[in-house]
Amino acid sequence: DELVARIEGLVRLVPDYPSPGILFRDITPLLADGPAFAAVVEAIASSVDGPVDLVAGMEARGFLLAAPVALALGAGLVPVRKAGKLPGPTASESYALEYGEATVELHPFTVPEGARVLVIDDVLATGGTAAATVALFEHCKAHVVGLSFLVELDALRGRDRLAGHRVETLLHIA
Ligand code: IMP
Repeated sequence: DELVARIEGLVRLVPDYPSPGILFRDITPLLADGPAFAAVVEAIASSVDGPVDLVAGMEARGFLLAAPVALALGAGLVPVRKAGKLPGPTASESYALEYGEATVELHPFTVPEGARVLVIDDVLATGGTAAATVALFEHCKAHVVGLSFLVELDALRGRDRLAGHRVETLLHIA
């Protein structure tokens, strides 16, 4: 539809970034377009099914979407950070990358048992980050009621790692 076409025009393709062979989707032009940014926040906020207590944003571009969506929903915000950034105590979850490993962390004392959580990031690629984030909230006995992404790289099948969860994406890229 019209919003999807607008998003597509505002996501810049950057070949060989951050490493050779990677085609990076840069969302800074979209963030810089006030009406488009507002429309995206509204679309994500209205895609959720039922009440949300907390919106989780993944470092770093997820923060930029999660904060305004949290405000729109009247929900709290939980930053999900890379290892070593939060002062602690933290809950942490590691996951495999193509080369090596990454870790995501949150402050478990900000996540009440039974909280309904919407998880947000800019891009769903292999799904490793999102699946680790879901595991973090499950450790806290919270309920991930949905995950929302601006862009999904369908060929990487990240969605398969989020089976059983509601996954919404505005722009699908084959
Ligand atoms: P995944 O864990 O493989 O799904 O990768 C998703 C994470 O990497 C997200 O936090 C994204 O912000 C980031 N990411 C992966 N590919 C891109 C891209 O093309 N543009 C921007 N971020 C990306």
